[in-house]
Amino acid sequence: PKFTSISAQQLIHYVTKLLKEDLQNRGIKLQLNLPEIDIQLWADEEQVQLILINLIKNAKEALVNCLNPTLTITIITTQNFYYINVEDNGEGIVPEALERIFIPFFTTKKEGSGIGLSLSRQIMQLHNGKLSVSSTPNISTTFTLQFPRKK
Ligand code: ADP
Ligand code: MG
Repeated sequence: PKFTSISAQQLIHYVTKLLKEDLQNRGIKLQLNLPEIDIQLWADEEQVQLILINLIKNAKEALVNCLNPTLTITIITTQNFYYINVEDNGEGIVPEALERIFIPFFTTKKEGSGIGLSLSRQIMQLHNGKLSVSSTPNISTTFTLQFPRKK
């Protein structure tokens, strides 16, 4: 990976602008909860862009047939970590599948590759970070990117 200091807000604005029209066409409401103070991540910009694009694409696919489809992206800061949460209120993931979704080629989609999440998790590990998920089917699903805070 090619590490530089990148703005988390800039990154999120960039990918959401890229996908905005598609989300609008699908009636998906986009909600951004971003702090005013700029969050700097030590990361490979293109790789993290790809992770976010993948997560948003998955959310979009989970939001088909959803009543009030909403995608929420939130930045959270703690003492040691920055978190980017990508949340949707779509179909969700049953508990039995929760850890399997990160296995290469695991997919529940007719035309799915099952590659996005396994690759994204590997990329986060190369960032000394994590990719995790929590889900309550038909209520909400949240994917969380964890980045260590740089001193
Ligand atoms: P693909 O999208 O090609 O199936 P991914 O690795 O991106 O591969 O995702 C693997 C599986 O995880 C999906 O097939 C789906 O079952 C599940 N999944 C991922 N994101 C979501 C989400 N936001 N809501 C519900 N299920 C999801
Ligand atoms: Mg996918």
